[in-house]
Amino acid sequence: MEKMFDSKMLTSFVIKSSLNIYSNMKIGGDATYLLAPQNVSDISSIIKEANSQNLKILPVGGGSNILFGNVGNRVIILDAYLPDIFQVDHKIVTVSSNMKISSFIDKAMQHGLGGMEFISGIPAHIGGAIHMNAGAFEKCIFDYLYWIEYINLEGKVIKIDCRNLEFGYRTTSIEGFIVRAAFKLDKKTKKKILADKEDIISKRFERHPYDYPSLGSTFKNPKGKFAGQLIDECGLKGLQIGEAQISKKHANFIINKGSATFNDVNELIKIIQETVKRQKGIELQLEIKVIN
Ligand SMILES: Cc1cc2nc3c(=O)[nH]c(=O)nc-3n(C[C@H](O)[C@H](O)[C@H](O)COP(=O)(O)OP(=O)(O)OC[C@H]3O[C@@H](n4cnc5c(N)ncnc54)[C@H](O)[C@@H]3O)c2cc1C
Repeated sequence: MEKMFDSKMLTSFVIKSSLNIYSNMKIGGDATYLLAPQNVSDISSIIKEANSQNLKILPVGGGSNILFGNVGNRVIILDAYLPDIFQVDHKIVTVSSNMKISSFIDKAMQHGLGGMEFISGIPAHIGGAIHMNAGAFEKCIFDYLYWIEYINLEGKVIKIDCRNLEFGYRTTSIEGFIVRAAFKLDKKTKKKILADKEDIISKRFERHPYDYPSLGSTFKNPKGKFAGQLIDECGLKGLQIGEAQISKKHANFIINKGSATFNDVNELIKIIQETVKRQKGIELQLEIKVIN
């Protein structure tokens, strides 16, 4: 008989809460194993235990790229209760993975360090942004990343120079839970950082639908093309199922207009993929993480 996850041994990590508050899309139901570790050694124990039971883990940061469906027995590990770290040594800034991008940029600015303002306005945490290799305006987070510390799938703490990691467009080779990272930033005046940050945020507000919950770009841009433009050209902008809608402002964003469900969003995803394939001959690949 299959051995069950030893939730008794780990009761202090289990929190009773709906997943919808941990996704920026505000969609999600119950999870059997929604865990809130408070330090690195907790994470290590959780991963070892999950591994021994053959259960998949899912680290969750800002939840700005995760669509929760039926998560089954997946072991969901929140970064929300981990201690905050922010240390500066010359141009090197070491942070905990749970830090919000906005706080990171603001805190670094207080030390006259910047460069990563291009990701201002993204509602992500540092760990999630590293795992996804978040980027914008032709730059990505790996341009500034120095090293990371993560717990691998055996529960071991590994510190690795980012030159030894593989990364690409919204993808990395990291398997495990990132706990800390160091970035090499640029010396920059507060005035210039503020101006660059404001410029980026205003461009985002102009182009993206910030008035409703979303997960950012639903699909990756195919080589040389823009997913949003392809979806728009297929006449799908504004299409709504239940309370999920293909944004009228940016067709690569699916927004939750109120009480959208996983099925509403998933249905829109399928329609987009089928229509773009039929009309344009292109298979759109998901950028968001659909957990079902
Ligand atoms: C309004 C809006 C605008 C956006 N704009 C952009 C943009 O310009 N560029 C861009 O790249 N993305 C953008 N996104 C998408 C999203 O913010 C990024 O993918 C971001 O990197 C996700 O970070 P997160 O902390 O929210 O991760 P989550 O959504 O929590 O998780 C995303 C993935 O990372 C993994 N993960 C999370 N934390 C960790 C960790 N500590 N260790 C290991 N794995 C982890 C998760 O398991 C999951 O696979 C946008 C999203 C929104 C809602």
